[in-house]
Amino acid sequence: MSISRRDFLKASALTTAATIIGVESLVDNKIFAAALQEGIVWHKSVCRFCGVGCGVMLGVKDGKPLGIKGDKENTINAGLLCVKGFYLHKVITAKNRLLYPLIRKNGKLERASWDEALNLVAGKFKEILEKNGPDALAYYGSGQAETEESYLAGKLFRGFIGTNNVDGNPRLCMASAAGGYISTFGADEPIGTYDDIDYCDLFLLVGTNTAEAHPVIFDRLVNRKKKSPNCKIIIIDPRKTPTNKIADLHIMVKPGYDLAVLHAIARLLIKDGYADEQFIKDSVVFSNGKDPISYDDYKKFLEKYTPEYAAEQAEVQAEDIIKIAKMFGESPTAMSMWTMGVNQRTAGVFLNNLIHNIHLLTGKLGKPGCDSFSLTGQPNACGGVREGGTLTQLLPGHRSVGNEQHRKEVAAIWKIAPDKIQPKVGKHAVAMFEAAAKGEIKGLYVLCTNPAQSLPNLNKYIQGMKDAFLVVNESFFPTETAKIADVVFPVAFWGEKEGVYGCTERRSQYMAKALEPAGEAKWDGEVIIEIAKRMGYAEGFQYLKTPEDVWNEYLKFTAGKDMDLSGATYDRLKKLRGLRWPVPNTNHPGTWHRFTKEDPFFPKDKAGDKRMYFYAKPEGKAVIFARPNKGPEEPTSTEYPIALTTGRILEQWHTMTMTGQIPELLRANPNPYVEINPKDAQSWNIQNKDKVKVSTKRGSLVMNAKVIDRPRRGTVFIPWHWPESLTNILTNDAVDAVSKEPEYKVAACKIEKA
Ligand code: SF4
Repeated sequence: MSISRRDFLKASALTTAATIIGVESLVDNKIFAAALQEGIVWHKSVCRFCGVGCGVMLGVKDGKPLGIKGDKENTINAGLLCVKGFYLHKVITAKNRLLYPLIRKNGKLERASWDEALNLVAGKFKEILEKNGPDALAYYGSGQAETEESYLAGKLFRGFIGTNNVDGNPRLCMASAAGGYISTFGADEPIGTYDDIDYCDLFLLVGTNTAEAHPVIFDRLVNRKKKSPNCKIIIIDPRKTPTNKIADLHIMVKPGYDLAVLHAIARLLIKDGYADEQFIKDSVVFSNGKDPISYDDYKKFLEKYTPEYAAEQAEVQAEDIIKIAKMFGESPTAMSMWTMGVNQRTAGVFLNNLIHNIHLLTGKLGKPGCDSFSLTGQPNACGGVREGGTLTQLLPGHRSVGNEQHRKEVAAIWKIAPDKIQPKVGKHAVAMFEAAAKGEIKGLYVLCTNPAQSLPNLNKYIQGMKDAFLVVNESFFPTETAKIADVVFPVAFWGEKEGVYGCTERRSQYMAKALEPAGEAKWDGEVIIEIAKRMGYAEGFQYLKTPEDVWNEYLKFTAGKDMDLSGATYDRLKKLRGLRWPVPNTNHPGTWHRFTKEDPFFPKDKAGDKRMYFYAKPEGKAVIFARPNKGPEEPTSTEYPIALTTGRILEQWHTMTMTGQIPELLRANPNPYVEINPKDAQSWNIQNKDKVKVSTKRGSLVMNAKVIDRPRRGTVFIPWHWPESLTNILTNDAVDAVSKEPEYKVAACKIEKA
């Protein structure tokens, strides 16, 4: 399938509309007029929504948010924003802002003073700690919290309370990507950056609806294709989406059956002479997942993965797999990009490894236009959580809980006893809520996230959240989680506090405080520090007076590490549009390609004349994995014959706590729906807008049918946003064995007319 010029122009128009849709309608006349008046001050910040990390300017006049515009000086988005970003300023003053603390009394949440709420939480956490031990407490954080906030929570729970029950919602979205990077390259996060897009001739998009989930990246792909007509775009995904508008080839794989396709591509790349044998010799080793194997063993392993075999597995055409391998092999440059369609799988880490494999085989890494580049869902999942060490197995600065030396280094900076941090990894997200359901975790602190809507197989976990002493930091009320909490702290929203976000491309960016917090809201960091002080840990926290104090302490953890941020001081970050680590000193400009001569940690002595040296791995070599071909945990069956997949739409963000308040965004899709292929709808006797009941082993939901030529036959798609229709009642909570990320992307369901 090749894209005609007419289609291409149509697609460009679509993306332009999607990214800068209705600018005039977004800025009503009154606001627009006010914006033209003198006295409006524009504050540099970063979009609060997805992991793209677009630069925004927040306009404030007389202490009120007046408007938002894309930051033209920010090279990520050069002034563009998608519809979500354009409405961000309206969320600050949304009607659902929580303005004062709430405490549950006689079964109802009632207004309380800060002192009362803080004393209650500190007292109750201490009581649980003394009676049941540190592992009866847990922290569940967010890829939307600032790095300073996540860091403080990790310090309190690991270093002072003494539990590794520290995890967060990035477990639900990018843990498999982190697992893939660490196992293949020895260190988390991409080798390249967005700059590679501008040099790339072939994009392989796997399990990503880039146009809707990462619209500004999509716009960059459109621009690249416009400038370079030979640039090709290939999609591997079970569903047609607006991203298809610029695709040259799309294979609609059966959900959960795409591993064989990646193996078949690898086999063809070697067989047809596209492998970069010198790069493989210099920079690659092979593994079966347990033991090292040889290149020949790997070739033998791949023999079974003929295009025909893979096509049968994934229910696609063998010729298309052959075409993909040829296009990838022949293209001078290539970037793979993926999101939840790869990560939210019980084979999520395996599939990440298989994508890295084809780049390692062809040497398409570490040079302009080449990368194996995971797109991140949340704005600070990379910064605060992967780098800040708030997944249970991690410590700040890309350190591991299981490494004694790492624990000692952390303890030294925190000035705590070396054995205070437990050597045992704590509970990951799903296990944490399972432990709450069993009564093992008795106190839960949830910050900046909404697990009562976002966890998979929800019905299994809600009661545990109700039974535990549940404390929530929230800017909004109600949310599904805040509704069942025992204490809700009102916290400052974006624009009302300063801090740092780290986006997909290793870039840390400063966000200014432009406004005073609404009502009695406080900075999350202050809430954590107050709880710590009231629990008796003042010595570890009281000297941290400002977000900058916290950031400076955090920077100590990064010094000398692969993710060195020593040069990213507040002073510099306030002036620049972010810095991409490693940035080891205040004169350093940041790094484009890691593990190459550009990287300040590239060991020239060891690397010799090798182009890349993966210094986080023994011998500096990355690993090509021969992973088994694994299908979904819950295949379709006679009783549940349809594959269910879930995801996002352009106008909404996660659980709609923020975007659900914006009428202009809600108007696009006001009600929950399930997408059904027209041919399936016909054979199931379902018409567009019929009420249908979707059921899995775990529960049922009634919603509108949207008959549309998007999902492949035998697959239905439900966006998971609406709180009045909790999609995650249906999803599967089986997790990847390595990353512990749940398989939101594939479940078996049945559909009947309601
Ligand atoms: Fe915000 Fe993402 Fe849209 Fe950029 S693409 S404006 S970061 S939601």
